[in-house]
Amino acid sequence: MSRVGTRGLVLNENLIFEVSTPGRRGYSLPELDVPPASLPDGLVRDEVEGFPELSEVDVVRHFTRLSTWNYGVDSGFYPLGSCTMKYNPKVNEVACRRPGLADLHPMTPDHLSQGALELMYQLQQGLAEVSGFSAVTLQPAAGAHGELAGMLMIRAWHESRGGGRTRVLIPDTAHGTNPATAALCGFEVVPIASSDRGVLTPEVVREHMDDSVAGLMVTNPNTLGLFETHIREICDIVHQGGGLVYCDGANLNALMGIARPGDMGIDVMHFNLHKTFSTPHGGGGPGAGAVGVAKCLEPFLPAPVVVKTDEGYRLDADRPQSIGRLRSFNGNFGVMIRAWAYLRSMGGDGLKRVSELAVLNANYIRARLEETFHLPYRQRSLHEVVFSDRQLGGDCHTLDLAKRLIDYGYHPPTIYFPLVVHGAIMIEPTETESKQVLDEFCDAMLAIARESEENPDLLHEAPRCTRTGRLDETRAARQPCLCWGPSE
Ligand SMILES: *Cc1c(COP(=O)(O)O)cnc(C)c1O
Repeated sequence: MSRVGTRGLVLNENLIFEVSTPGRRGYSLPELDVPPASLPDGLVRDEVEGFPELSEVDVVRHFTRLSTWNYGVDSGFYPLGSCTMKYNPKVNEVACRRPGLADLHPMTPDHLSQGALELMYQLQQGLAEVSGFSAVTLQPAAGAHGELAGMLMIRAWHESRGGGRTRVLIPDTAHGTNPATAALCGFEVVPIASSDRGVLTPEVVREHMDDSVAGLMVTNPNTLGLFETHIREICDIVHQGGGLVYCDGANLNALMGIARPGDMGIDVMHFNLHKTFSTPHGGGGPGAGAVGVAKCLEPFLPAPVVVKTDEGYRLDADRPQSIGRLRSFNGNFGVMIRAWAYLRSMGGDGLKRVSELAVLNANYIRARLEETFHLPYRQRSLHEVVFSDRQLGGDCHTLDLAKRLIDYGYHPPTIYFPLVVHGAIMIEPTETESKQVLDEFCDAMLAIARESEENPDLLHEAPRCTRTGRLDETRAARQPCLCWGPSE
């Protein structure tokens, strides 16, 4: 229920009380069923200080205007490396808003939620097929949460065999969530160096492998956008040493329909459903970090698990070795529906085409920019490409380039990650961009490189075409102002 009063937009019954108190200027509404006396004394007040007096038109215009200051995949190219900011088909949104799915109460008994359970079951099966794992859980709410699920399962597996393994090997190219997850699970993190070709070598893994090592956390393709060419041999070394291999699957957009992590010897991997399987993300969620496991980890999956029986689908909580429940109810169901719709509409061939185009697009950008921007690792990229700022002129750095890209109308790429590249510029175009968009972006990058030589202040002072100029990001992080209201 919504009405407009002289004091403002009335959004619901509670606010109606606010404007309809007797004696208020010139506006009255019917008597309320809930008498004002039901509010505790301390909360009843005549005036709300600073409460804006706005009409509906003012409010609508305010929020519509704010929305146009935003930048998203629906407004332009968003090459944020590692985040797979692809265009998300709108048909997924139609699917997840269907009342039978969207209005389903999470406490509905299994026999009345067969459709939803069937969807979850099919999604589990589909993801298992794409990745080569024997089972999949949909419970975790994000990639990092999936890592937690996976590492807890590795820990539980070791404990079931006597325990005693306390260390986890993690390459220096890893996403920060990997060491954070391992530490959260009680493991000691052992950083290991990638080679000068940007990949892990069997030698370095063998050197660190002993009976204190619970496993290895590896990202493939890694965060330099490079395929870990020795992955099979590395998995064998870890297994022979009694450990398990975790794969950060955030970069699955480069592999789908072409290669399966399960076939490479990986034991457990998370999918970022909101990245690879198309849910709008970037504002912080919701996401979903489904996790695939090899046979040996199946007993440890978070409970309950969706199973298919002769009587239909049901949630099976009778899992004595399970690491337990990780998420209220059954996870972020809306993201699962989008992933299911995406899988169904693409099919196996479609997913393969996605990966081929994602890789082609990244290599196209690499080829157009590699003479102007320093490329620390020269081999063929997969779905993303990492440059450095070494060749920029005029004492310009990666941050200046990123800010100047905003003036050209682009969301900046990921910067200063991975850490092994000084001044990293990490570009992931995804499969959904056309050659025209990629060319325009590359033209902008080349123009900025020229500006860095000819007029470096254009970069140092960027962004100039935005509502606010360059912000003090260090202060914003260290002294965040998180309250609404006049600041000190
Ligand atoms: C995005 C990402 C993660 C974390 O995923 P969230 O869903 O943001 O928690 C982990 N590793 C890599 C390589 C990523 O790109």
